[in-house]
Amino acid sequence: MNDGDLQELYRDIILEHYHYPRGHKHVDAPDIHNEGKNPVCGDEIELEVKLNGDVVEQVGVHCVGCAISVASGSMLSEIVEGKSIGEVKRIAQVVKAMLTGADLPEGVDPADLGDLEVLQGVRNFPVRIKCALLAWTTLVEGLKNYESGNGAAQVETAATEQ
Ligand code: ZN
Repeated sequence: MNDGDLQELYRDIILEHYHYPRGHKHVDAPDIHNEGKNPVCGDEIELEVKLNGDVVEQVGVHCVGCAISVASGSMLSEIVEGKSIGEVKRIAQVVKAMLTGADLPEGVDPADLGDLEVLQGVRNFPVRIKCALLAWTTLVEGLKNYESGNGAAQVETAATEQ
């Protein structure tokens, strides 16, 4: 497979998530509610999370924005349900590393990350990296707020965090 085909594959998977976003649902009595914005592109996201102990039982993702921001939120919803808060934070670190071209954390194989692997293609479009990170930074902020006792607080940090 040459580079052109690979780019096309990435594009197809991203567009498929964009048109049919997973996790686009309302979560009853969420433990965590957080919103994030990426003013550079105009992407806006709202996340609701229902926890069972420290495991993410359900996540609702409502994203209005470009294809990459919506697709990244859709992929997030597919992978985080059933994972512990610690695992979710680790996955978020992996996504960030893939997007910025940093080394992946020890023992992580991108092939285990499902469609998330295609986000590596976004690395070639620096202006889009914040779009792809929006869902993840918003989720991690929400988890941190929850852990510090402010689960319902809304914090707009996603746009500035890099
Ligand atoms: Zn965007």
